[in-house]
Amino acid sequence: MRNIFLIGLSGSGKSTIGRLLAAQLEIPLFDIDALVEEECGERIATLFAHKGEAHFRACESRALSQALRSAEEAGGAIIATGGGIVLSSENRQLMAEGGIRVYLAVEPATALQRLQRQQHTALAQETSPEVRPLLAGPDPLRSLQSLLADRAVWYEEAEICCSTEDKSQEAVTRELVAALIGMGAFSSGEPMLQRAHVGAGYDIVVEWGGLGRLAYYLDQLKLPPRIFLITDSNVERLYAASLLNQLRSAGYEPCLFVVPAGEASKSQEWLNAIYDWLLEHHAERREAIVALGGGVVGDMAGFAAATYLRGVPLVQVPTSLLAQVDSAIGGKTGINHARGKNLIGAFYSPRLVLADPATLLTLPERERIEGWAEVVKYGIILDTELFTRLEDHAALLLAFRPSLAALICQIIARSIALKVEVIEQDEREQGLRAILNYGHTVAHALENVSGYGRWLHGEAVSLGMVVAAALAQQAGMFSAGEMERQNRLLQQLGLPVSCSDAVPVEAILAAMRLDKKVAGKRIHWIMPERIGQVTVTPMPEDLVQRVITTFFAEKRP
Ligand code: NAD
Repeated sequence: MRNIFLIGLSGSGKSTIGRLLAAQLEIPLFDIDALVEEECGERIATLFAHKGEAHFRACESRALSQALRSAEEAGGAIIATGGGIVLSSENRQLMAEGGIRVYLAVEPATALQRLQRQQHTALAQETSPEVRPLLAGPDPLRSLQSLLADRAVWYEEAEICCSTEDKSQEAVTRELVAALIGMGAFSSGEPMLQRAHVGAGYDIVVEWGGLGRLAYYLDQLKLPPRIFLITDSNVERLYAASLLNQLRSAGYEPCLFVVPAGEASKSQEWLNAIYDWLLEHHAERREAIVALGGGVVGDMAGFAAATYLRGVPLVQVPTSLLAQVDSAIGGKTGINHARGKNLIGAFYSPRLVLADPATLLTLPERERIEGWAEVVKYGIILDTELFTRLEDHAALLLAFRPSLAALICQIIARSIALKVEVIEQDEREQGLRAILNYGHTVAHALENVSGYGRWLHGEAVSLGMVVAAALAQQAGMFSAGEMERQNRLLQQLGLPVSCSDAVPVEAILAAMRLDKKVAGKRIHWIMPERIGQVTVTPMPEDLVQRVITTFFAEKRP
């Protein structure tokens, strides 16, 4: 990992953000002011008062060099600097050559408020008996304004500029992680490559930090320079700026379309808006659509690519776990209709799928956890070894740390490989592909009855797998021990295994009967026989009713 220098005015949040970022990226933090205090044995304020600014600046430069040496030994670190570090041209050069500069921008008035708050707390707790030199002056706001006016030109040389106004420290940290991923700071350059032999065939790349090499991967496809990038509002806020930069630097001319985040955008209205946008830009048949985001963006942008001018090249860049292991793989694209989910759509293969698991660092925890349900599903239906691996590492996977990059990439790549194996044999869901719906019969019914949004899809699938396993167990097809192993793993990964809501059982049964996967009026259940093997079979109605009634009734609060 390259070094990251945090620069900006006092009060921009460098030390706090530095701590959060260091914890998130699992690399050390060096705070220049702390190093100076340590070396001189005095607080900065005292040092300033006793020995003057020139002396302080000399100590600061020495501390920067020392921090760089320690960072080198550690293989990369966050270095939080003092507001005036950029005054020296040597310091500026050291930082420009030594890593990535991140400017935390803040309005002087906000910085002043934060500094005054910190000062009050420090005085109250007696952790610092001195008043910062900046705050001791007659007009601290004016001082901050003039410092910013003098230094802005150097701050703005930073590779990443991030405003910290009106944002929580966690939100700023997430933005920085995303910007670093998008500019290639995470890229290991070690992709796991697989090929899906569906249609003309396409490559699927799983690479930690691979988003930072999107332009490189697009180059391989020899596409025209204009790229139609479609994303949602959450992903745009995090990744758009760095990706647009990356693509432009590589000679592409990216155009960006943003839909509001959320399932409601997977609609005819937003699809029409995408067509209008493509037409306004006179998008041509060889020009590619890049779908950057979760399953909502992937499904809708994919359908736009399938239908605009009877099909234009599509690149899937899934950024949620669910999209990486499931929705971006297999060529199903589509939108929702007022009468149901995914009712309008097409099978359409992308030219490339680029899954960067590092992007999951910025995914909200609940959305990340739900994605594991589909991974557990692959273990149950097809792969004992994957299941055991998940069992062995469940706690680590739940924590989701950069130090687990290799493990996470392997598990995601394995999940993708399993789905690819199935779709290569049955692209259009004529037979085998149905096994991918393990747990989904009850999940779809529950989502439908509870109102979409109450349960995330993966959570509903988790509950659906618990019910399906109970059904198989009670029918004597699946052992109680294996059923417990499944449920324990789901729980260890943070997924729900019981339903605390009062769900009307009759409504669940009715919704299941209506599900579009009902063949010839009998529901075909995906039933586990052992971990790693399932069979597709109708089940006795009375047993289904009993298991579902017990599951939903018993779990009421
Ligand atoms: P989603 O696309 O709504 O993404 C979930 C949330 O995470 C959104 O708020 C999104 O903005 C945010 N997000 C995504 N990536 C992020 C990142 N890296 N950092 C921060 N935030 C990020 O939902 P989803 O769970 O990814 O996908 C669900 C959709 O997928 C549903 O519409 C479902 O029908 C569809 N799906 C399709 C298939 C298929 O085969 N095509 C399979 C399963 C599901």
